[in-house]
Amino acid sequence: MRVVFLGLPGSGKGTQAALIATAAGVPHIATGDLFRQHVRDRTELGQTVRGYMDRGENVPDQLTIAMVRGRLQEPDAARGFVLDGFPRTLPQAEALDTLLQDLGAPLDCALYLEVDGELVIRRMTGRRVCPKCGAVYHVEAKPPKTAGVCDACGTALVQRSDDREDVVRHRIEVQWAEAEPLVPYYAAQHKLREVRGDGPVDEVAATVASALGLPSA
Ligand code: AMP
Repeated sequence: MRVVFLGLPGSGKGTQAALIATAAGVPHIATGDLFRQHVRDRTELGQTVRGYMDRGENVPDQLTIAMVRGRLQEPDAARGFVLDGFPRTLPQAEALDTLLQDLGAPLDCALYLEVDGELVIRRMTGRRVCPKCGAVYHVEAKPPKTAGVCDACGTALVQRSDDREDVVRHRIEVQWAEAEPLVPYYAAQHKLREVRGDGPVDEVAATVASALGLPSA
């Protein structure tokens, strides 16, 4: 199964993409996670992309596409993949089609998780992460047992700099302007599936699975 997830940041696509990848037995490839790993590892790419990420701006297409091209050629992606956070722009979508054409493995479908913008802002500004083990919490939806402390390792939780409200609003405006053309792009290829993303996680997961022709978990 080769699928891309489309949707605003905070639409829940990360959660849904991970569930679907597990159900289908393919890797969940999230470009945000790949970039954050580069920043943590202090690679050259990590140093270059850090400023864009802190400002809530997209990393330039050329760098993003090169990273995804490398990742999709790793052996585990030969079985298929669920891409999350990529493509985010039309040039990225076109580059992905070209790459998959070269690999002889075209995309099966683009799943668009639709949510209300204000809901996204509430979800994203409430997110807290553990800087040590990477566990993710939410002040309303998934609070840790002790406020502000990681359940798994006891480290003080932090808000990602790109989850602050001013950064989130800016990011949503920028991303919506760039991502909007992806919907008609995949619709024209008859690959678009649209699912409402604002219900409970398990209900959305069941709808997503059925849209992708998978049995629900
Ligand atoms: P995310 O975890 O998806 O919210 O991504 C975090 C940050 O990584 C974004 O704000 C961008 O700076 C960068 N990023 C992730 N995916 C992409 C992409 N497809 N194109 C450009 N930048 C990206």
